[in-house]
Amino acid sequence: MKRRIIEILRNGQPDESVTVQGWVRTKRDLKGFAFVEVNDGSSLASLQAVLKAEMPDYEATLKQINTGASVEISGVLVPSQGKGQRIELQAETVKVFGDADPETYPLQKKRHSFEFLRTIGHLRSRTNSLGAVFRVRNACATAIHQFFQERGFLWVHTPVITRNDCEGAGELFTVTSLDLKKIPQTDNGKIDYSQDFFGGQAFLTVSGQLEAEVMAMAFSNVYTFGPTFRAENSNTSRHLAEFWMVEPEMAFCDLVGNMDLAEAFLKHIFKYVLETCPEDMDFFNQRIDNSVLATADNIINNQFERITYTEAIAQLEKATKTFDYPVEWGLDLQSEHERYLAEELFKKPVIVTDYPKQIKAFYMRVNDDDKTVRAMDVLAPKIGEIIGGSQREERLEVLEKRMQAQDINPDDLWWYLDLRRYGTVPHAGFGLGFERLVQFMTGMGNIRDVIPFPRAPLSAEF
Ligand code: ATP
Ligand code: MG
Ligand code: MG
Ligand code: MG
Repeated sequence: MKRRIIEILRNGQPDESVTVQGWVRTKRDLKGFAFVEVNDGSSLASLQAVLKAEMPDYEATLKQINTGASVEISGVLVPSQGKGQRIELQAETVKVFGDADPETYPLQKKRHSFEFLRTIGHLRSRTNSLGAVFRVRNACATAIHQFFQERGFLWVHTPVITRNDCEGAGELFTVTSLDLKKIPQTDNGKIDYSQDFFGGQAFLTVSGQLEAEVMAMAFSNVYTFGPTFRAENSNTSRHLAEFWMVEPEMAFCDLVGNMDLAEAFLKHIFKYVLETCPEDMDFFNQRIDNSVLATADNIINNQFERITYTEAIAQLEKATKTFDYPVEWGLDLQSEHERYLAEELFKKPVIVTDYPKQIKAFYMRVNDDDKTVRAMDVLAPKIGEIIGGSQREERLEVLEKRMQAQDINPDDLWWYLDLRRYGTVPHAGFGLGFERLVQFMTGMGNIRDVIPFPRAPLSAEF
């Protein structure tokens, strides 16, 4: 019977007949017999198959089986004599689907640097580390849906092409409808991009929030989970031009409800991943960052710290550490400040609330002091900001004033204002950067290594 390797490694019993399909990780030819490790992506560990010289076409088969070759092996499971594995496969037949020339196949048994692996993005998923990353990424996504579905949130699909820039959160990519046969030309012969989207202007979404608010005003609790785009030319280890965001939006909810949800949400995801991917998480702890398991334990078992922006500034002013960027009430926190608070001062995630209104988006609920807004950022050790959210401004007149102050044309967002005209309610939501979550969970240092196809400004790594 055809079986996934993870099931065999976990539950396979001696004398069971099985067939596995996968890619060869290593081959050891010991004259008279050979060990072949096969991996099908289902688990970190590979299954060891033993090929004996008595097999039909033994020599010819062995020649074809090199690292990277794709194979199907049928045989019987037997207890393994070797260390590190419980069971192995005594091969009876081997079929090679495609060989891989050892002279040119770029993956070897040795450890490759992540920089090198980025140059072979189409093959890097066959390594232990990237395999573990993408299994954990999948588990995080599953946990996210599970969390919201169990709580009755509706998964809504917000558009990728949109006419609003949400908040000017980042630089926008514009969408242009180019008819290649009639490319509009300007006088200097360059392409005229002002044609844009069927005569109007459109962008790739930087956040699904505003549209999620539309849906929350009918379904109460919703979430959107999809790709977002920011043309930011920042070559950092935590920014991509294309990344995934999870954005819940809750009607009849305030900032405290929002913080409670964000905290329960992160705890749930960590618990789920520890339960479903224990081998992968152990691997990260051993090979990538030896605080990964302690961090997971910390997230699950401790309450996050909650402080206001004003308190955060006071703490940063008291710090003996010197920062590159100034600390001053009214300026945004930089990643070094965020990391100091989470990593060094509180040693756990910190939720910072009530930021000055001039550094936050127009839609955030203004506090009675008229100086701060009900914003919240969740800061994670080693990463900094992982979640940004807020209670939204539900009062029409205040929202209109804020838009005016930020030079936002109300005609562009007439539908958004309508939500305040007809049945407005206090509501709140947040955005979690999905790749930053995966980084946080795995200890991976560079965001380009936690997404299968990273889209980022060209850099030395590409
Ligand atoms: P930062 O300050 O790190 O640039 P931001 O405040 O611009 O983030 P938000 O607009 O609040 O980001 O977006 C919500 C979340 O999306 C962030 O908390 C972060 O986790 C994630 N995020 C934002 N920009 C990027 C990006 N370019 N690449 C990957 N994730 C991102
Ligand atoms: Mg940003
Ligand atoms: Mg920020
Ligand atoms: Mg933010």
